[in-house]
Amino acid sequence: MTDIADILDRMEYGPAPEGPGIAQDWLARHADGFGHFIAGRFADPGGLFDVTNPATGDVLARVTQGTTEDVDAAVRAARAAQPGWAKLPGHERARHLYALARHIQQHARLLAVLETLDNGKPIRESRDIDLPLVVRHFYHHAGWAAVLEDEFPAHTPHGVCGQIIPWNFPLLMLAWKVAPALAAGNTVVLKPAEYTPLTALAFAQIAQECGLPKGVLNIVTGDGATGAGLVAHPGVDKIAFTGSTAVGREIRRTTAGSGKALTLELGGKSPFIVFADADLDAAVEGVVDGVWFNQGEVCCAGTRILVAEAVAERFEARLRARLEHLRTGDPLDKCTDVGAIVHPVQLDRIRTLVGQGLTEGAELVQGTAPAEGCFYPPTLVTGVHPASVLAQEEIFGPVVTLTPFRTPDDAVALANNTRYGLAASVWSESVNLALECATRVRAGVVWINGANLFDAGAPFGGMRESGFGREGGRTGLTAYLRSPAPTDKRKPVAAPPAPDPLPDAGAGYGNGVDRTAKLYIGGRQVRPDGGYSYPVAGVKARAGLAGLGNRKDIRSAVEAAHKASAWAAQTGHARAQVLYYMAENLSARAPEFAARLQGMGQSAARARAEVDHAVRRIFWYAAQADKLDGGVHSTTAKHLTLTLREPLGVVGIACPVASPLLGLISLVLPAVAMGNRVVAVPSQTAPLAATDLYQVFDTSDLPGGVINIVTGAREELTRTLAEHDDVDAMWYVGTADGARMVEAASAGNLKQTWTEAEGARDWTGTHGRGRDFLLRATQIKTVWLPYGE
Ligand code: NDP
Repeated sequence: MTDIADILDRMEYGPAPEGPGIAQDWLARHADGFGHFIAGRFADPGGLFDVTNPATGDVLARVTQGTTEDVDAAVRAARAAQPGWAKLPGHERARHLYALARHIQQHARLLAVLETLDNGKPIRESRDIDLPLVVRHFYHHAGWAAVLEDEFPAHTPHGVCGQIIPWNFPLLMLAWKVAPALAAGNTVVLKPAEYTPLTALAFAQIAQECGLPKGVLNIVTGDGATGAGLVAHPGVDKIAFTGSTAVGREIRRTTAGSGKALTLELGGKSPFIVFADADLDAAVEGVVDGVWFNQGEVCCAGTRILVAEAVAERFEARLRARLEHLRTGDPLDKCTDVGAIVHPVQLDRIRTLVGQGLTEGAELVQGTAPAEGCFYPPTLVTGVHPASVLAQEEIFGPVVTLTPFRTPDDAVALANNTRYGLAASVWSESVNLALECATRVRAGVVWINGANLFDAGAPFGGMRESGFGREGGRTGLTAYLRSPAPTDKRKPVAAPPAPDPLPDAGAGYGNGVDRTAKLYIGGRQVRPDGGYSYPVAGVKARAGLAGLGNRKDIRSAVEAAHKASAWAAQTGHARAQVLYYMAENLSARAPEFAARLQGMGQSAARARAEVDHAVRRIFWYAAQADKLDGGVHSTTAKHLTLTLREPLGVVGIACPVASPLLGLISLVLPAVAMGNRVVAVPSQTAPLAATDLYQVFDTSDLPGGVINIVTGAREELTRTLAEHDDVDAMWYVGTADGARMVEAASAGNLKQTWTEAEGARDWTGTHGRGRDFLLRATQIKTVWLPYGE
């Protein structure tokens, strides 16, 4: 007779399938094909494509391929509905969102089964993870709608949001996008993934059932071309995208210069770090939850296990044993751990990447998987070099690499050896070690002794090539709101003509001294690489000469800024001391700076006022250096869910032409106060106020490389900065063409950008400084720290 211990050992218990009947009945009612959901009703089906069940290959439904006209109709419906929706009192919008949450709960079984049929994920996951998170998201954001006016005074919705989601968590990604957008008063056109549109269509029907006003939610099905059409549509005010980094980059380029707000949640190759003192059994379960969950089709999956050498053998042995017991197969079976891969195309991609890994010397340990259907066995890969394809590429399959490390420093270096920065798992019984590691890993989310924890109240999103913007909680909501804009709407200022370094016999120098201001790189004054300088116009004669920086100077400045990374690790208090000192030193030399501004054409009164504002501004940011706190979030898990505000890294800043001192100070100081290092291109036409600052920096204990200044042709230098892969963010104040160039060029490494028309902001007014600058100078890291047994 079989006893329980025997069953637990072999894990060979009988099948326990969930019945597909409920979803099949629903699909049968739509056997003629699904049309798009536009303006509150399902349109007639158009050109149809098949949606299949990856576990069996059976056709589940036929869905319409969205055309340009379809996208246009949906955007028009969303536009028409938006003012009315935004005007509803928050309480009313909240009631709609509550209704959606309740009706989703009511239809949870249909949605879970449908999701599993369409995507291939185990029913246990769609039922116990995806659906509860979806419901929680709608409840949480119903709450935000109710309190919006009090919590975000003077903020306005963007308008029409174009939302594009992937196939790995179809309904959950819909909830992450739709709930905050609607709560904030936006309307939505959503394009689900071609492989998995069914739960979005069921959700549309639920919205109909709930009486959501027409046009508030529109769903257009189709492939990448439909998505591209939505991104390019001029009637869309914001794009929110989750998917691959390659498509995210394309979207960044398409939206450049359009004024559309953009958030990108992209790929990852997250580290899973196991220290020697970790609870190894828990960490092994963490791998199951972190990598083999959802067939590894998870953007934040911890697909690179880094394990301390001292325990590597033991850990690997336990992991192999666990792997053997994973059950891959029928997704509707409640005993299944790993379901079907979403589509044969994705299965091919996994096989190809693993094949490449094998040619690079990787060794595989694999579980089992059914031969028929779209299945791939859970896989552990050893013998991979950190630079090999399996360690670098996002595979999006149940494949994890295992690499030993020696010291915590090695672990952090290996963890950060990726262009991505989405998530990380850290396993250690020492809270000190785990938190130290969490602060050093470059990732938007860090789970300590856990993996893949999500909650509507906790921000989720990436750094580096994993994209920008956060979803969840207060921060996620701000991505769907416009903060009050500067009110000073003067005429746009044209870009200054390129500086002319050629000799001009007619020009003399006001003070008769031929002094060329140099560049400031790594804390030293250096001659420009090209050896050229350019004249700076003064009142009657030239005010002086400034160095004509080139690409090489920018590269040197970026290198110097990188070397100054210790600035980021200083406390806010320590940074504040340097900034206070800087303000004092500028204050002591105020008349000299005013004279310099006057010499470049300003009136005496304006020059004095600009210096005075600059001194006050430095004081203000010194005061703020230790005040932008993170938070502790109220989530449903037994965790301290913390957010830390971290600097972006190296920020390129292209300054306005006017307000040559105050403009530069107003942009550079918030960045530096938050721990960033800066490469600034000062006012092209009046750079001498900036170059006079070198001595102020030198006498203020500012470490070399924290602020670097390269004078010269603004647009040209800015382009080099925006294209540079070691620059993490770009701020640009200038022309519309320049802004487009910055946004497009920044697509390379997906740097965060902030562009603004020169003249839109009065630097002397209240819009010249503020918390908004500090928020832009930082990015959020969410750290999940468990407590309790
Ligand atoms: P994509 O990035 O192509 O798809 C995500 C969404 O964007 C889908 O709705 C897709 O449409 C749509 N889309 C595709 N091209 C464009 C475009 N040019 N403009 C606008 N929207 C577009 O991911 P894939 O589904 O092709 O998967 C490829 C790889 O991407 C995976 O193997 C995986 O590595 C990664 N990936 C990462 C995800 C993440 O969350 N980080 C999620 C999904 C995939 P449609 O699919 O319908 O054609």
